[in-house]
Amino acid sequence: MNRTEVAALLGAASAVDPKVPQPDPDVLTMWAGILDDVPADVAGAAVREHYRHNGETVMPADIVEYWRAVRRDVAERRHTAELRAHAADRRPDLRAIRDGIARVTAALAITRGVDPEHAEAEAEARRAFLAVPCTWCKAQPGAPCTGPGGKPLTKQAAHDARLADALTSTR
Ligand SMILES: [Zn+2]
Repeated sequence: MNRTEVAALLGAASAVDPKVPQPDPDVLTMWAGILDDVPADVAGAAVREHYRHNGETVMPADIVEYWRAVRRDVAERRHTAELRAHAADRRPDLRAIRDGIARVTAALAITRGVDPEHAEAEAEARRAFLAVPCTWCKAQPGAPCTGPGGKPLTKQAAHDARLADALTSTR
């Protein structure tokens, strides 16, 4: 805040506290110097808060401390919001982890040539490795693996590398 804002602040504070310093040039210079990074509305809130439960005359340090607490609160709220957004981003992965173990087990059974017994299990397994890209044939998530000439694989459901990645991502 600048000298004009400090003068207004001290004027307002003097209404409740006769011991508040008079806004003479030296006082304004000192206060404005100490509070130069504090927004005027925050300083106003700090003074209000101070006199709500304090009989002592407000000092610049009280206002600086209040400003620090406000910024700490904002930083914490932002941090919490970021963590929440992060958690929301990851929620599908967590669900995949929970469901994935059984699916990938079935997927590995397919590649080993073990009949997974149920077509449904195979479909479940397909969904599990379809969630990850294939580093072998560069199939994107959701797209099936392809062999030479872009033909679908016949001997296995997906490339081994992709099944391994699917397994890793569900651990
Ligand atoms: Zn592939």
